[in-house]
Amino acid sequence: MSTELDAGRTPTGSRGADVITLDAPHARRFTVLRAAAMFDGVSSALMARPSVVIADGVIAAVHGPGGPLPARARVVDLPGLTLMPGLVDAHLHLCFDASNDPVGHLAETSDSLLREQMAEAARRALRAGVTTVRDLGDRSYLALDLRGSDLAGMARPLPAIVAAGPPITIPGGHCHFLGGAASGQRGLRAAVRERAERGVDVIKVMASGGNLTPGSLAHEPQFGAESLRAIVDEAHRLGLPVTVHAHSARSIADAVAAGVDGIEHATFMTAAGVAAPEALIRAIAAQQIAVGWTVGRDPSQREAVPPQIASRMAALGANRRRLHESGAMLVAGSDAGVSPAKPHDVLRYAPEDLAAAGLSPAEILRAMTSRAAQACGLGHRKGRIASGLDADLIAVDGNPLDDLAAIRRLRAVYAGGRAIHPDLGSRARIEVP
Ligand SMILES: [Zn+2]
Repeated sequence: MSTELDAGRTPTGSRGADVITLDAPHARRFTVLRAAAMFDGVSSALMARPSVVIADGVIAAVHGPGGPLPARARVVDLPGLTLMPGLVDAHLHLCFDASNDPVGHLAETSDSLLREQMAEAARRALRAGVTTVRDLGDRSYLALDLRGSDLAGMARPLPAIVAAGPPITIPGGHCHFLGGAASGQRGLRAAVRERAERGVDVIKVMASGGNLTPGSLAHEPQFGAESLRAIVDEAHRLGLPVTVHAHSARSIADAVAAGVDGIEHATFMTAAGVAAPEALIRAIAAQQIAVGWTVGRDPSQREAVPPQIASRMAALGANRRRLHESGAMLVAGSDAGVSPAKPHDVLRYAPEDLAAAGLSPAEILRAMTSRAAQACGLGHRKGRIASGLDADLIAVDGNPLDDLAAIRRLRAVYAGGRAIHPDLGSRARIEVP
């Protein structure tokens, strides 16, 4: 048996455990990650001294202290660190560049250049431990092209990508510049079919206006109940889930009535303020509609909150707490890309926003791992550390159940069993064969 031990430096130091492995060409089949503790994506307590056995990019077994090591395993010790499932960002936009003018920059960028920029944005997320992203609105279906680039063997791997293509919107409506405008029952059904033929994973609909689009008002509906019903009916007939962008309280009610699978933002805005009727909140919880909360801001960017949000902030916070208390299925999505406070690795700042809504630390971690994976249709492959799932894991310094900031003390990232160097500055990624 050949055993390689991680020669990493002190894991509690600022550099963390740089995973430096010795070479042993004849011992490739199994990798075993050993750490001080593990959050499995679901449980409310950590497992002590886990061993996670990886083979061919998949978790082959998970053992507690003293678990058996397979013969010919390569062992990576991560002393003092806690293993977690890779993070899942259930809502971002790889095509927006997280600048002050993402829409203007997009208009000036060719598809081929945009594809490159999107790949780089995805890599940035991956280096921050986000091993799965759901792109809820691109141009020219470019995010679909990037799927599969996460396969082992790629020189520069990407996270797993779930993609919607251009969101369906009304002519001139929210994000119309992405190319997804459609109208009329037949037009909307045709738009769904086009996306299905392109191979999207999910249908994204702009049910209300949004803040990014001039002339579009977040509190105003774009599609009525009948239109949403046609979209959902056509999508479900084709086996595709539907998630709707909905700030407007009216749009949220219409979306729930139409039987959508997910609601993004869910701010319940009206012209005057915010209104979330109790019956609507109960229906969202009862139907287990995935509520994609927009969470995480880079604290180094001091952007002014738009006035239409600022004036509603207290009520928005209260409704988040009500949704959580109702048992709604809450999922973390960052909307990364839309502004400087939303770089593509911003999900690591989400825990504090989720805590403000009353989620416990374990609930927060679930919203960022197993539940988000479920909302992305990948609950069977991602978001948990369990036998048979993809070997997407991160190692953080500390106990994230005691100290949520531990998520930002990232020391190792594994995507499909492959070590990705976390973003520790300019140091090159260390290749682990
Ligand atoms: Zn968005």
